[in-house]
Amino acid sequence: MPSQLQIIEYSGLIIRNLLRLSYSYQQINKPRRRMQLQKLISALFALFFAFSCAQAASQQDRLPDIGTAGGGALSVEREQIMGDLYMRQIRATAPLVADPVLAEYLRDLGLRLVREAEGIRFPFTFFWVNQKDINAFAFFGGHVGINTGLIAETRNESELASVISHEIVHVSQRHLARQIETSQNNGGLALAGVLGAIILGMVSPDLGMAALSGSIGGIQQSQLNYSRMFEQEADRIGMDILVRSGFDPQGAPAFFGRLAEKYRYSSKLPEMLRTHPLSENRIADTRQRADLLPSPINRDERRYWLAKYRVYARHLQSHTEQTFRQQLSANDPAIVAAARYGIAIVQLDRGDAEAAERTLAPLLTAEPRNPFFIDVQADILLKQQRYNEALAMLEQAYLRLPNEQTITLNYANVALEAGQAQLAVDLLRAYLQKESDNVLAIDLLANAYAKLGKTSEMYEQRAALYALYGNFDEAINNLHNAYKQNGSELEQRRLQARIDQLLDKKRQLAALQR
Ligand SMILES: [Zn+2]
Repeated sequence: MPSQLQIIEYSGLIIRNLLRLSYSYQQINKPRRRMQLQKLISALFALFFAFSCAQAASQQDRLPDIGTAGGGALSVEREQIMGDLYMRQIRATAPLVADPVLAEYLRDLGLRLVREAEGIRFPFTFFWVNQKDINAFAFFGGHVGINTGLIAETRNESELASVISHEIVHVSQRHLARQIETSQNNGGLALAGVLGAIILGMVSPDLGMAALSGSIGGIQQSQLNYSRMFEQEADRIGMDILVRSGFDPQGAPAFFGRLAEKYRYSSKLPEMLRTHPLSENRIADTRQRADLLPSPINRDERRYWLAKYRVYARHLQSHTEQTFRQQLSANDPAIVAAARYGIAIVQLDRGDAEAAERTLAPLLTAEPRNPFFIDVQADILLKQQRYNEALAMLEQAYLRLPNEQTITLNYANVALEAGQAQLAVDLLRAYLQKESDNVLAIDLLANAYAKLGKTSEMYEQRAALYALYGNFDEAINNLHNAYKQNGSELEQRRLQARIDQLLDKKRQLAALQR
């Protein structure tokens, strides 16, 4: 798959392992009862994406007060457990972007918006899906996915932020939970069915992406009754968040208006328009509200442009060196810098490290601590085996920005390549204390332990990785291996506790299924 291949470009070492892992994951879990699964998962995904296209006027008089946050069938705690399980499944099936630079950018942007939202009950996580289709989606437990195709379609950061804040509201207002309750009350999809679909979906990861792009046509109208109200609520509250976070409120009507215009006569709508239908009314409402609000002037959008052109160059691979060169004469210096950055990535990714270094040099001189630039420079130096230069650059950056995942992961990766596995272990362990579910960090750490001959520790990290991919059996196997390799009684007790934890998690799954 191209999306996975291009992740290999980021770091061959890292991704070979991830590919192997998800491969064996799929080997282990052969899909059973395929047809039924497909149906269940389609229904489930429909719900995930179905904050949507309801006409359902006949049911309007039975609508509950929009202000009640459905606390009935789905407790916040249960919602989090489901979100966690579903995230594990997505890791194993969707073409997620394993790119620390973009991850850091999206997290900063997302959390900046979350800070201005009300009713936040759990920490939010944001992730990229490498798909051309224009889409963003939110599900249980504060997980928000953004397609690379979405940032590619936006024209400024406020447009991107308007979509993300809209999705944040779907989560903070518990639209999904409320929608499920509604469908239950109407005798639609039973909660047990929804939960079962998640669990069955985990057993059959190859169905995940098919379902992601599947249609929602099969779902009954009665299950989508409140969607239009939820859409309005997400638009309204989303714009408040947008403005409070310092973005331009015009971003929302500009983006949605352009999208509606673009696809007005199209028979094939992007996923986002299918799940968030744009009526004339909705756009007019949004525009009216935006016109009453102040627009900030001279926003600094340099990181947005770098992120977007990085997506073009490395993930969507939609731009050639020539396309980027045409942008070098743009009026906006942020666009010119991003175009130069895009050229450097294209050059590096086709193997021309010397050219890439020359292209990147002026950018790096101007901003020596910019993680976007440091990341590309680290790969340039790595390709030429200039380990000492790379280590010196990253050490300096790390001392100033010890919490930046781009710098930490690059530093650890270079240390590992340069034969300094212990340094990599120290860096990664410190990092994982702060962000325990970073798959790249865990994978690098497993490699570092392998190089040091610390087999028990290596198995333990592999277990952590399998668990993040929802494969609890393989995780427990690896923990048993770790246990056998470890002579310390104290460590064995700790490993046994971890095994018990994962067994609990498995039981939790079974319980949800009933
Ligand atoms: Zn929506």
